[in-house]
Amino acid sequence: MSVLTELGDLPEPDLAKVAPHRFRRLGDKVLATSEAGHWAFLSHDEYRDYLKGLGDAHPRFDELRVKGFLGHYLDFERLAAEAMEGSLLSWEGTRRFVLLLERGRQRMDCDVAREAVDFAFTVPGPAVVLEAACEDPAAAWPMARFIARYAAKRSDWNGRRSRVWLRTPNLPAASRAAEMAEHKLGLMLELDAAGKLPAGIAKFPEPRVVLRWIPKARDAAGWVKDLRAAGVGSVMLSPDGVSDVEGFGAFYAAFLDAALSDGPPLREEWAAAALRRLPPEGGRPREERGGPLPGVDVTGELCVAPWGELVAAERALDLPSDERGLYSLGAVGRTAWEELPDKQAVHAILAGAEGDHHPLCAQCAYKPACTVAPSRHQEGQGSFWGHLPTSAACAAAMAALDVIFLRLAETEPREALLGWADSWTLL
Ligand code: SF4
Repeated sequence: MSVLTELGDLPEPDLAKVAPHRFRRLGDKVLATSEAGHWAFLSHDEYRDYLKGLGDAHPRFDELRVKGFLGHYLDFERLAAEAMEGSLLSWEGTRRFVLLLERGRQRMDCDVAREAVDFAFTVPGPAVVLEAACEDPAAAWPMARFIARYAAKRSDWNGRRSRVWLRTPNLPAASRAAEMAEHKLGLMLELDAAGKLPAGIAKFPEPRVVLRWIPKARDAAGWVKDLRAAGVGSVMLSPDGVSDVEGFGAFYAAFLDAALSDGPPLREEWAAAALRRLPPEGGRPREERGGPLPGVDVTGELCVAPWGELVAAERALDLPSDERGLYSLGAVGRTAWEELPDKQAVHAILAGAEGDHHPLCAQCAYKPACTVAPSRHQEGQGSFWGHLPTSAACAAAMAALDVIFLRLAETEPREALLGWADSWTLL
């Protein structure tokens, strides 16, 4: 199902002049990505010239030299530094913590919530982002407020910024809006793209929306219009869980084009996150871009279950019991963050997320930007490695990345997309 592309007969590469890279046919161009994640769009003739060994006078020579595509000008130290900085194995800390307030009949209590917040504040990084997830915001309100207040106290004590989001598929009562603003508790509303944007969302300060594509989705431009009219500035449209890849790809393209068109700013978070994994092309340095990595287990996300179990990814809680063990990393209150990098399960999960170990990922032009998590492969195919040719998760990620990279080939959308990646913060 996933599609690596071919270019027909190609000349033998001049191994002295061509640096390791990956390629993909995209529209009428060839997308080349370097080992570190720099990219270049070449015409088919330019790509052939490149493989044969570019002369100094070639119009693309300087660009390809600077981006690390020319073997005889390769700066190995810079390549190694960039590859390491972009690698999930270069792990500063987890970017966001999901606190699952309820699951079935189990509810998170104050002790577990406090220990979960304490744990999150032990993880290194400039800021702490907590996501309190619940179905029923009215029932979960006391616990969400407790978490927001306690995280604010911890921020005062530790001198570290924090932000708490209430993630729910049901809009809280409008009367909560002022209280949520007072506690700096942001609203993250999960919606199906076939539904409607609830009018009351405009009452909440700076809400975010997770828009889940389903086959009966309303038109993408209509969604963008409604979201802008309601003052929503940030939307996550993730390929996770998509099986109709073509339908999703068309919706994603239309959504991205509408979001990139003139109007109040509307950022698509998945695109921003995928682009943040790449080395900055003239934008803010990587260390200033500390945003989230949706979909990436452990480094991007850790989850605390209502009973205190620390899990590598929220979706791992839905795995069959014989597959779940790998993702269970201990319990808040008993497991220290410092123990995680030594756990074999964490090594295995991070190795699974780094495409160098998969024969097909290792050839994929999108490897440096890929966010298909091992738990996503596990969920779809029963193995954290995944079987990429038949992986719906891989195909959907490729469809979204095709849309993004096609827009990176044009000046205006490129500037806007890279601006999203540079400026996104959850704080
Ligand atoms: S899982 Fe990611 S890196 Fe691997 S082939 Fe699919 S899109 Fe490419």
